[in-house]
Amino acid sequence: MADSAHDNDKLARRGLMFILSSPSGAGKTTISRMLLGADDEIKLSVSVTTRPPRPGEIDGVHYYFVDDAEFDRMVEEDDFYEWAHVFGHRYGTPKGRIRNALKEGQDFLFDIDWQGTQQLYQKDQQDVVRVFILPPSIAELERRLRSRGTDAEEVIEARMERARSEISHWDAYDYVVINESADDCFAKVREILDAERMKRQRQTGLIPFVRELMS
Ligand code: 5GP
Repeated sequence: MADSAHDNDKLARRGLMFILSSPSGAGKTTISRMLLGADDEIKLSVSVTTRPPRPGEIDGVHYYFVDDAEFDRMVEEDDFYEWAHVFGHRYGTPKGRIRNALKEGQDFLFDIDWQGTQQLYQKDQQDVVRVFILPPSIAELERRLRSRGTDAEEVIEARMERARSEISHWDAYDYVVINESADDCFAKVREILDAERMKRQRQTGLIPFVRELMS
């Protein structure tokens, strides 16, 4: 009995923690949306933040928007897998609904920064896949930020400074994808996800095969 429980454990598929990080302006939001739209097997891990909502952002869909006191309470109660200060606000990945779902084999997409990536990786190296999206060049990133045409010079300079600092962490990722075009970048990110799902320990399809072999 104990043996078969152990074998079942060995065969059970745990969900993937698929992390996408990038400097802002490199197109990560677009790629995340494309992935969630194209793949029913992966869900977004909705983060908690103290930043106020932007126009069009919906509580519980894009983020859970909370005040400082609520965030403090969640930290005290150990409700986060990870949390970090990003650009003057706090952001965290709540354990809440995803903990059990991961155990049951549900894959999750995490749109989090390098600090959160490091924390998740330290906790769970087996299930974490780290993907970093880079712009084609620093000059191209600046061109993209300027082409929005809405930001003052100092805002653009501050964004570029942040982007440089985020990019400096690219070497702490398993995969790096350069975003020349959204379609190509998306196709590559999908290939990574597909390949990671084919790793032996993540293949539920093998269970009957292995059981037969062991019987
Ligand atoms: P934004 O405010 O533009 O939505 O996000 C700012 C940055 O915070 C992005 O780099 C995003 O990936 C990161 N971020 C969003 N949620 C989390 C989270 O739960 N944890 C961490 N560490 N970073 C997050």
